[in-house]
Amino acid sequence: MKNKHSKLTTSVHAGSKGDPLHGGIVNPIYPSSAYDYDEVVRYPRYYNTPNQLAVVEKITALENAEDGIVFSSGMAAIMTSLLAMVKSGDHVVFQSDLYGGTHHAALNELNRYGIEYSMVDAQPDKIKKSIRKETKVIYIETPSNPLLKITDIQGVAKVAKAHGIITIIDNTFASPVNQNPLDFGIDIVTHSGTKYIGGHSDLCCGLMVSSKKLTAQIKGSAMHFGGSLDAQTCYLVERSLKTIVLRVNQQNANAMTIAKFLESESKVNKVFYPGLKTHPLHAVAKKQMTGGFGGMLSFEVKGDPDKFMKKLKLIRKAVSLGGVESTINSPRKTSHAKLTAEERKQAGISDKLVRLSVGIEDAKDLIADIKQAL
Ligand SMILES: *Cc1c(COP(=O)(O)O)cnc(C)c1O
Repeated sequence: MKNKHSKLTTSVHAGSKGDPLHGGIVNPIYPSSAYDYDEVVRYPRYYNTPNQLAVVEKITALENAEDGIVFSSGMAAIMTSLLAMVKSGDHVVFQSDLYGGTHHAALNELNRYGIEYSMVDAQPDKIKKSIRKETKVIYIETPSNPLLKITDIQGVAKVAKAHGIITIIDNTFASPVNQNPLDFGIDIVTHSGTKYIGGHSDLCCGLMVSSKKLTAQIKGSAMHFGGSLDAQTCYLVERSLKTIVLRVNQQNANAMTIAKFLESESKVNKVFYPGLKTHPLHAVAKKQMTGGFGGMLSFEVKGDPDKFMKKLKLIRKAVSLGGVESTINSPRKTSHAKLTAEERKQAGISDKLVRLSVGIEDAKDLIADIKQAL
């Protein structure tokens, strides 16, 4: 479904119809968990209360989707979407560079339910080779954490379609501003709304968008799993989405400026950012990241990464990402702490690597902070 307005307009207006009772221009918060049932049976865990639906209207408009669901966390969105598509005996192909929580969930949950899986390099031909007759879902994530690897979305969607397999993508790192995977043939898009969609490091939520048909199937399972989001947080998510284009545009611009600065800096070894021409899949990123290359980047420092991070004054040390404030962390101590040193080495994650989530501050101030700390 194509939108008639640009994302700047859509982000402000979609789903935000105002207060019909008093003429207020913002949506009221409707805390009711009990509704009259004559026309529609509304209930928070049925994912159809007014504040939930306002968020869904915004995200579906931004992602060119027919329908969607708002959840209480990104993991609720991911696991509900995935589990709704498979049954015992089925097989799932995951790309091996996955968000730590998803990786851990695959390892600890799926086999217990009799669902098999493979983890493969995120290239369409390698994914194709790992397909079995039991394969029901291909699951990808691009750009990936923490090395900002790029998966060819259209290439993977083509392989899946040829085999009648459902595709799921975690679109968290790109945000709905920069990348709309449904346009490239993906079936289901998930987001950790805790990141760019919330955008202020103060809420936890998740979202999925898809066709009407697949959304209805996922909603059926979601009612059983029960990861619904309350009206107050939904209101904050709706409010956050009104500024997502402004925030992400500024984060895109800042990240590009900082990535170029880091590339020229002698105290830095490697810089990983899909917007750089030196990124091995820059051309693919350019094709599918239609809004920009995102606010996430990582780099290897030559000195001690812990000392470097300690010296930063403006950029804060934190695990999460996507907020208006810039944050930094060491994947070795956070997202990839459960891996052994050897496994990290194999994954290309050096002990010198730091991951930066670029905020909306003035890039000049961020660069000055990085410079003094290096
Ligand atoms: C944070 C994150 C998740 C999980 O989201 P929660 O809101 O923490 O449940 C999933 N995928 C990616 C890429 C993330 O960054």
